[in-house]
Amino acid sequence: MSHATTIAAALAEATQRLANQQEGRREAEILLGHLLDRARGWLLAFSEQPLTADQAARFTALVERRAAGEPVAYLLGERGFWRFDLSVSPATLIPRPETELLVELALERLPPLAEWAVADLGTGSGAIALAIALERPHCRVVAVDSSSAALSVATENGRRLGLNQVEWRHGEWYGPLQGERFALLLANPPYIAEGDPHLKQGDLRFEPRSALAAGADGLDDLRQLIAGAAAHLLPGGWLLLEHGFDQGPAVTQLLHEAGLAEIFTQQDLAGCDRVSGGRLSTSSEATNGPSAEG
Ligand code: GLN
Repeated sequence: MSHATTIAAALAEATQRLANQQEGRREAEILLGHLLDRARGWLLAFSEQPLTADQAARFTALVERRAAGEPVAYLLGERGFWRFDLSVSPATLIPRPETELLVELALERLPPLAEWAVADLGTGSGAIALAIALERPHCRVVAVDSSSAALSVATENGRRLGLNQVEWRHGEWYGPLQGERFALLLANPPYIAEGDPHLKQGDLRFEPRSALAAGADGLDDLRQLIAGAAAHLLPGGWLLLEHGFDQGPAVTQLLHEAGLAEIFTQQDLAGCDRVSGGRLSTSSEATNGPSAEG
């Protein structure tokens, strides 16, 4: 009989198995830490501790799934975003750090005590809606998704975080928002072109295609969101949209065509165009929206 596998030996073997991943060693530590419910520092400090046969078998199974390409976030069932961890499943896009830029730009436009209505269209795991709800507890947030499987993940995230001012609605884009206007409309819609080779690489292979791809130029959903914005914004309200690194000019053009004002594009931390936005002019009266701020 061979000796029981130690943490160190299991990590070394997993790192070899994950040699096709850029950060195989780090991923092995994350997966084992998750399995044992221990921090990385603990694994390193107690690396000569043996794993039980069951732990070793479960770790090997996770490492095999990762070696076959499954995203770490789906293997763990969670991903950090903003100031919390969100449950994720293959029904939801994995929240990206770039999307925190959209949250920051939204918060710049929402005074701390604002009691405004905000909508997150295509909420997925609920990342954007929940970040806004956490930071602006007086706002009413409506989050929409066309996938009921995604909405149940999002709803559970909201419940676990105690962010009960988010209202979850099932439907396509503005479908469940008929006749309603918002101070802020936010979306990280699908924006990858159908033929983009990235869809066949890395994590994207495992994420919902409906959350990633949007027509031949990737702009199909952005077009719909921009076209419908004026009917769902309060005067002075903002539409803020995440988009691809090369879509800034096209999105800006669409925002102009929709009659929005104060149009801008902002780069993410990598220096790529990532979020564009525009504002409905304040020419008409509003009593409970952004133009009331003055
Ligand atoms: N930013 C993601 C990616 O390129 C795409 C997310 C999206 O389509 N909204 O991997």
